[in-house]
Amino acid sequence: MDRIVTDYLQRHGVSAAAQAFLARPQRLYIGGQWLESSNGATDASIEPSTLGEITRIAMATPADLDRAVAAARAAFDGGPWRTMKPLARERLIHRLADLIEQHAGELAEIESVDMGKSVVAARDVDVQGTVDTFRYFAGWASKLHGRTVEPSALPGRYVAYTRRQPVGVVGAIVPWNFPLQTMAWKVAAALAAGCTVVVKPAELTSLSTLRFAELVEEAGFPPGVVNIVTGTGREIGAAMARHPGIDKLSFTGSTAVGQEVGRAAVSGLKRLTLELGGKSPVLVLEDADLAAAARAVANGVFFNSGQVCDAGTRVYVQRSVHDAFLRELVAVTSSLKVAPGLDPDCFIGPLVSPQHKQRVSAYIDAGLTEGAELLLGGARREGCFVEPAIFAHTRADMRIVREEIFGPVLVTAPFDTLEEALACANDSPYGLAAAIYSNDLARVHGLIPRLQAGTVYVNAHSTLDPALPFGGFKQSGFGKDLGAEQLDHLLETQAVWITLP
Ligand code: NAD
Repeated sequence: MDRIVTDYLQRHGVSAAAQAFLARPQRLYIGGQWLESSNGATDASIEPSTLGEITRIAMATPADLDRAVAAARAAFDGGPWRTMKPLARERLIHRLADLIEQHAGELAEIESVDMGKSVVAARDVDVQGTVDTFRYFAGWASKLHGRTVEPSALPGRYVAYTRRQPVGVVGAIVPWNFPLQTMAWKVAAALAAGCTVVVKPAELTSLSTLRFAELVEEAGFPPGVVNIVTGTGREIGAAMARHPGIDKLSFTGSTAVGQEVGRAAVSGLKRLTLELGGKSPVLVLEDADLAAAARAVANGVFFNSGQVCDAGTRVYVQRSVHDAFLRELVAVTSSLKVAPGLDPDCFIGPLVSPQHKQRVSAYIDAGLTEGAELLLGGARREGCFVEPAIFAHTRADMRIVREEIFGPVLVTAPFDTLEEALACANDSPYGLAAAIYSNDLARVHGLIPRLQAGTVYVNAHSTLDPALPFGGFKQSGFGKDLGAEQLDHLLETQAVWITLP
């Protein structure tokens, strides 16, 4: 670990447990064993506010992936997981949730140091969301049933029913913005359904998933049920999408990579879920409580430094309240503290990497070149920091309005009629989420079904619960994570006919 990172951890009183974990080189978790990469390759994990090296992680080879898939297959086909009674599986998933909860502070510190996010948010949102997700899906393990059917189209007598069975080995490819929580969405549901999993975390943020794997081991999961292969997307992610031993691929990431992954998975006829990018619209109607709306809009776009798939990044404001709302929004945004993730008051942490900072900065420059009015922020600071930026009077053809930036950049424009607002909101290839700020129920209910978005928030943004499905329309993906809906993608339904004499 670089001295600059050690100092950073000590200055902020990071727990001894997290410090010890962060200082260790990390290995792959395959078939219940901790292994080096088969060619010995490693890569550095970088802390994004100091740019110091935290530790090194193993970079898996395709042979390591084969080993992980074989371990998951063996645990599924012949291993104890397949025959374990649902209530026993449920108990084990609950035990894992308890362990995650017991180690919440340490996991939050690891997540904050690796990804740059606020340690407070990491604990209250990422880790708490992870615990909730495991608890929610644990309960499903014993409640997955088929149904009996009375066939009536044919002569003769039959007993007919459906059975639901786990789809098999699930490959989970995870992005870097909510590493632990997104992994949990995929793993918790898969385990409840009786599947085994191979997880590939994002190469930038693998550490919390590796600490999680230690807790999987401690909870007593049979070897091979959960496997972690750290490595690049280009090599290991792509190999997972093609791998004949993976029955179902669950991918969260950018739309461009999702299309590639989807093509490979479909050519092998894998079951497939894609959770992709977004450019979510927000409509602020003239009757809204402007102060409350400004707080929620700022939170909805700048939380996690704007690195949120369903962030409300395009804000359309009814003209009669446009100027007043922007004044409120600028005031709220100016009060958000830009600081390293371990600072307890941090709201805007550094972006995840220097490359991502460069990408976000290029969008801010493009907005200025294309003539948008920069009302606030946008300055770059040492480390990976970018101050939250608000652009006003943007046009629909600007790149900052059309493309996903995935950073703390908000674009706004006025509208006159609700028809115009809807047209603006739906004028995007994405359809992940949308938000409406209004207390006029008739207008709100009129708008909801006409918004092309997988989630619609009213007077809030990014509220989340494991019981509600999450997933996009249009190019934001297909299939759902969370909720009962996610289980449909992890279970095969078998129809059974028994002819009676
Ligand atoms: P990304 O697409 O670059 O990477 C996502 C994952 O895919 C990583 O693990 C990466 O290693 C892997 N990968 C990269 N190239 C690959 C390839 N050719 N084949 C297989 N796997 C590959 O995305 P990112 O930059 O890590 O994350 C940001 C993106 O994720 C944004 O577009 C964001 O909107 C999206 N996202 C969506 C959701 C959702 O639920 N819809 C949630 C979080 C993030």
